[in-house]
Amino acid sequence: MKICVIGAGYAGLVSAVGFAGRGHDVACIDKDAGKISKITKGLPPFFEAGLGERLRGVQNAGRLEAGTDYSAIQGADIVILAVGTPSLPDGSADLSHVRAACAAVADELKRSDKFAVVAVRSTVLPGTTEKVVGPAIEKSGVRFGLAMVPEFLREGSALSDFDKPDRIVVGCSDDKTKTVMEGLYGSFDCPKLFVDIRTAEMIKYASNAFLASRIALTNETANICQKAGVDADEVLKAVGMDARLGPHFLVPGSGFGGSCLPKDVSALARHAQEVGEDAPLLHAIHESNQKQKLRLFHMLGRMMHLKGKKIAILGLSFKAGTDDIRESPALSLIPKLLEEGAHVRAFDPEAMGSMRDVFPNVEYANDWEECLSGCDAALLVTAWPEFQKSAAEYKEALGAAPLLDSRRILPPNAAAEANLAYHAIGRGAP
Ligand code: NAD
Repeated sequence: MKICVIGAGYAGLVSAVGFAGRGHDVACIDKDAGKISKITKGLPPFFEAGLGERLRGVQNAGRLEAGTDYSAIQGADIVILAVGTPSLPDGSADLSHVRAACAAVADELKRSDKFAVVAVRSTVLPGTTEKVVGPAIEKSGVRFGLAMVPEFLREGSALSDFDKPDRIVVGCSDDKTKTVMEGLYGSFDCPKLFVDIRTAEMIKYASNAFLASRIALTNETANICQKAGVDADEVLKAVGMDARLGPHFLVPGSGFGGSCLPKDVSALARHAQEVGEDAPLLHAIHESNQKQKLRLFHMLGRMMHLKGKKIAILGLSFKAGTDDIRESPALSLIPKLLEEGAHVRAFDPEAMGSMRDVFPNVEYANDWEECLSGCDAALLVTAWPEFQKSAAEYKEALGAAPLLDSRRILPPNAAAEANLAYHAIGRGAP
């Protein structure tokens, strides 16, 4: 099949490379010439393990081309829209990128007489594909099919999520479109759910709302355990053995971030209001998560006055395995520390470039040890494998300074044995 993917971000480029790897001819279009220039050189514009090799592989096989020119749409069987849908200040989804991409797609399609399916992969609220995308493409005057294929990838394991999805959801406007989409996903061995377009849109939001609620409840449970002197890991391990709940997403931390969960929970809460439904839980998830992002800051504040103190931060990306800092806990912690007059030094294996643009007044270290050297306290925010050190190694790097850990990287008694001042979210601390 000839596939055209609009938007070469995390969702678009992974899909483009993934479908090319399955033998389709893929053109990837992005309006950002800088991103395209990197992609054409075989370099992904963001960090995702294994993506570079896979990208160069499909390029060498002649299966993937990238450009800023929409003419690549001509002759496509499927046009996949994977542009961003960020939050507006009121929490609703900003559809300006979707509208602009649709206008450009319609403009190209009218020069073609081939039936094409326009498939929305961006996360959009129920009704958007039919009310916004459909009418915009209709302006081309050509026959087309409309589909909605929500993306469920997790940054940090995006390629394996593409290769082995838990399920594929496809919303289709009609049988002809369904046949085309069955062809696209024919080689995938997983449950495939063909539904109507609005249902596909809602499945994505419902999935993210469930995940977000689980993280928020996990964090609140850990916070209570911390105050009650109970080890949250033992509690959550036992909770996860309940077959009705299962073991996933029960790891407490500094709150969820990234380009999806925060904005999707807000957009769904806003949508609930628009359709006349109270959704108090969705609002509470957001509030609980915002509070969690500052938990290490408040723990630290109970231990010392921050003015003039050197505070080290390990981990800036919203989670390990990505350089994405969108909505990361570090984005909440750093301004609070700076406001209190602390000097902040940070290290992250992949995300320092983007964070430097946001906080040029933070000092950036070359490795974890340099980051900790001479600090008054260290905050471990992101669970990168690089930070999985022994208590003795942390003791050597920190001396008497405390380590405040949102991810409980040390076994329960290890810190005491190494005489390390250690306080972990969910494990009895200030
Ligand atoms: P992103 O911001 O990383 O990438 C979007 C890309 O689209 C950018 O490179 C931008 O330049 C490009 N773009 C915007 N307008 C364009 C236009 N008119 N023409 C061509 N290119 C254009 O966003 P993302 O993280 O890849 O997310 C994209 C969509 O996928 C969002 O709706 C998001 O909610 C959804 N999604 C993302 C993830 C994820 O893990 N990142 C997971 C599931 C769903």
